[in-house]
Amino acid sequence: MHGTTTQGIPGSRVMRMTQQRCLELGRELFERAHAAEPGIWQRGWWERRMLEFTSADQRMQTQLFRFMEALPHMGDDGEVARHLREYLDDRTLREHLSLRFAASFDDPRGLFGRSVGAAVRRAAFLMARSFITGSNTREAIRYAERLRQRRMAFTLDVLGEATISEQTADGAAAVYLELIESLGAAAVHWPRIPQIDLGRAGPMPRANISIKLSALDPVFNPVDPEGVYRRVGARLRPLLSRARALGVFVNVDMEQFRYRDLTFDFFMKLLNEPEYRDWPDIGVVVQAYLRDADEDLRRLLSWVRRRGTEIAVRLVKGAYWDSETTHAVRWNTPIPVWTRKWESDACYERLTRVMLENANVIRPAFASHNVRSLAHVMAVAEELGLSPRDYELQMLAGMGDPLKLAVVEMGQCLRIYCPYGNLLKGMAYLIRRLLENTSNDSFLKQGFGDRAAYDRLLADPQEARPVSAAPPVRRYEDTFEDDGMLEFTNAANTGFGSAENRGKMTDAIAAARGRMVRECPVRIDGCEVATGAWMESHNPARPGEIVGRAARATVAHADRAVAAAARGLPDWSQRAPAERADVLRRAGSLLQQRRFELAAWLVLEVGKNPQQADAEITEAIDHCNYHAALIERMALRPRRRNVPGEDNVLVYDPCGVCACITPWDFPMSMLAGMATAALAAGNTVVVKPSSKATVAAANLVAVLHAAGVPGEALHYLPGGGDDVGAHLAAHPGVHIVAFAGSRSVAMAISAAAGVVRPNQLHFKRAVLDAGAKNAIIVDDDVDIDEAVTGVLESAFAFSGQKCTACSRVIALNRVHDAFCAKLALAAQVMAVGQPEEPATMIGPVIDDAARQAIAQYIAEGRNQATVLFEMGADRLPREGHYVAPIIFTDVAPGSRLAREEVFGPVLAVLRARDFEHALALANDSMYALTGGLYSRSPAHIERARWEFQVGNLYINRRITGSQVDVQPYGGARLSGGGARLGGPDYLLQFCRPRTISENTLRHGLTGSAEPAREPAASAMH
Ligand SMILES: Cc1cc2nc3c(=O)[nH]c(=O)nc-3n(C[C@H](O)[C@H](O)[C@H](O)COP(=O)(O)OP(=O)(O)OC[C@H]3O[C@@H](n4cnc5c(N)ncnc54)[C@H](O)[C@@H]3O)c2cc1C
Repeated sequence: MHGTTTQGIPGSRVMRMTQQRCLELGRELFERAHAAEPGIWQRGWWERRMLEFTSADQRMQTQLFRFMEALPHMGDDGEVARHLREYLDDRTLREHLSLRFAASFDDPRGLFGRSVGAAVRRAAFLMARSFITGSNTREAIRYAERLRQRRMAFTLDVLGEATISEQTADGAAAVYLELIESLGAAAVHWPRIPQIDLGRAGPMPRANISIKLSALDPVFNPVDPEGVYRRVGARLRPLLSRARALGVFVNVDMEQFRYRDLTFDFFMKLLNEPEYRDWPDIGVVVQAYLRDADEDLRRLLSWVRRRGTEIAVRLVKGAYWDSETTHAVRWNTPIPVWTRKWESDACYERLTRVMLENANVIRPAFASHNVRSLAHVMAVAEELGLSPRDYELQMLAGMGDPLKLAVVEMGQCLRIYCPYGNLLKGMAYLIRRLLENTSNDSFLKQGFGDRAAYDRLLADPQEARPVSAAPPVRRYEDTFEDDGMLEFTNAANTGFGSAENRGKMTDAIAAARGRMVRECPVRIDGCEVATGAWMESHNPARPGEIVGRAARATVAHADRAVAAAARGLPDWSQRAPAERADVLRRAGSLLQQRRFELAAWLVLEVGKNPQQADAEITEAIDHCNYHAALIERMALRPRRRNVPGEDNVLVYDPCGVCACITPWDFPMSMLAGMATAALAAGNTVVVKPSSKATVAAANLVAVLHAAGVPGEALHYLPGGGDDVGAHLAAHPGVHIVAFAGSRSVAMAISAAAGVVRPNQLHFKRAVLDAGAKNAIIVDDDVDIDEAVTGVLESAFAFSGQKCTACSRVIALNRVHDAFCAKLALAAQVMAVGQPEEPATMIGPVIDDAARQAIAQYIAEGRNQATVLFEMGADRLPREGHYVAPIIFTDVAPGSRLAREEVFGPVLAVLRARDFEHALALANDSMYALTGGLYSRSPAHIERARWEFQVGNLYINRRITGSQVDVQPYGGARLSGGGARLGGPDYLLQFCRPRTISENTLRHGLTGSAEPAREPAASAMH
């Protein structure tokens, strides 16, 4: 059929012929490939056996891959041996005799232990070398030349993806430039090989490289496309210009989904620039595993037509399937990829046809090791009358080698993707390849590992699809493992990678600004109360801008509010729990509807950036829905413990009047947590917000009222902490004080609440969240880049003004200096600026008093420690309460800097001798709120789980950003009373439990006498 066309034959028949041809070509590929399979003496054979061995046991495979991932970061061979033993736990060793021998050393640092370590390191190195084609440009070019001798073209890729500093991005650009220069010079001497060097329009560049844009920008943030265009453009233009001059082809690879639009937009914008507009030797990638891949290709094609010069398009399925699905399920966002393998295959075939039909507009390239996908490309090309010169096939170095030989023998143009570089940087790549090779869905594994029947493997994906297969992806609902768990779904944050959402936020900020100065009167019993005095809240980024004015309440107003709340109690507490739950759910929906508007006020009032503000709204929504669901469940499923002759039930009543005294760092979400818990349980609430965030609190109170919380049940009382706050804490009519803020105020509230005053017929409960001095331990086997990124995000987002923020890093001696060096470089790229910009990471601190207090700690630090990094004052906006982020090293463990809460962008780095010492330093604090550990040692992680004394421990991730129900939040020691906000037991703090026991024996007559209706959370006593 090659060379013939199908004109004049009906469409359905053509399709059938193409399917038939696809089978023939597929069988031929299989037969040729199996004939060329590596023999037992070749390295590929052993690798395959190794992969078969590991993929037989999923758990062991995970452990081994994790070990491999950590390997480049381990110290000497003894360390390798220690980690091997830790990763191969007792169960794995029991089940695998061969591994038991490898781990049979007593002392990892002894001779045998070190020999095992050395052997393992060598084996991993060899495995990596089969996928990675050299460690430097010279070796990689030599590899490429050897490929050409076997009639295979190549594309070289420098390993290393996300970069964390300008210096590493410059370094990556320099390596690419060196590569382009060297390749350009070498390619001149290469003889032309028609099979791979001649395209439809004539000779093609013999030298070819692939680039990942994220390697060229330490920020590469989808919320900042202009910044990305500026920074990546500045590094990429010299490369493109040089490549064009030397005749080197450049392909832009596609990375994770979150970068997809950013990459396409960048690519099209740059390639429209006059210098490159008529340059055809550039390509980009479409990923068929994305649900909207059809749209991606359509958009690209119409752009190419407008541009008027062809480009190459590489079609892949996609390399990040596992992480894309995990991430989406984790955050309960739509899964961007197909979840059934046949769907990706079918999409690949659809796009194959579109690309080949447009082979006069683009130069199609098909990257796959799937025989069916490749045979389909060849069959459709034949159907369309195209020749192998009109497209190319692509495969990865180290994968499916027999298939490569088959493809070449069949006269196809084949290009091999050849990554090279430092093994350390290549680990992420290696793990992706190992996952791909061992996945049960992988064609390569089925086709060459399992030798499943040819025809099944070559079936049309549409027809081969399983009829009722179980969902291949773990769903969000499946994360509730315990039967007794509340099945709660968290709200999702807004994606600011979308230009539309960024636009909505800008509009919302403008609208809020138009409504300034926002007036927030005292509200008692649903009525506005004039107090005659006002408290202003100012925009910390523009102190001259008055965001709102809240009426200043007095202690007399506090008395009125408490009395009104007591009057409101019978009505609200007597409502059925389901009715209260409905009200709270309505509040959640209103917050969702108004999230841009409400977030805008947070941006203006406390200086959060749009993403931080939006995340706070998400959390507030979650609290509404969570407490609604919890109270309903408590009412429906009261705890019964009936014994013969006696019925017993435990029910929960409200406590009474609750005073919520809330902070400014999370003025909506904290208030939402406290107030919705109190209201759900049937209490009435008096809100005393921080005087620095009165508008945010007023907004939430208004939403709750609009949702149906009666004015008598919820009162808004802005006022001073010293007078109104203290008065509420001591008030005999208040039953619970919920507070979040500083340690000193928490201690005063605790003391005041502990006193029983005249006419007070109850012990007051204090639910307290106070200060913190959170530490992150950086172990000596970590990926330093990952630790640096997590530490900076934890320490400096929102200028370090979160109670959960990191303010101490404890780095182990072996990595301390390397960690500090990278930390200082990476800190330079943190964006300080106007909070209104989504790309800003660090905004102003809350007010001038805070700025001065932080300045004192910094002045002390300068005398007692070493400044590792300090952002230049010229990078700070002129106006606003900005503090330049600063990092100190050589911080003495006993110094104020190491012990006291600073609440600003100040980070102290301490050095630990070993892990034991690091744990001791971390625990040496009066606080215990959040803590973090970056480690690849299973033994150290296990120790930290039990010995790191904090309320929330985060391992290998940032320590901020807890989610309702997922990470119930709260501290111990002087950080708080231990109540877990966003957890199932938080609500109980606002309830009074009551047990009812009834003797059911009546003169020998037995039988249960359970009431028709439960009195749960309905009565007041
Ligand atoms: C030359 C070359 C360049 C490449 N460049 C890129 C690039 O720039 N960006 C990139 O992302 N990848 C790139 N890849 C990697 C490529 O995406 C994977 O190698 C490819 O997905 C494997 O597909 P396959 O057709 O070879 O194998 P197959 O075994 O047929 O397909 C495996 C693929 O199917 C998908 N899949 C697996 N399970 C499921 C499921 N349950 N539901 C839906 N889909 C599923 C995944 O994408 C998986 O990788 C490149 C590959 C090559 C060969």
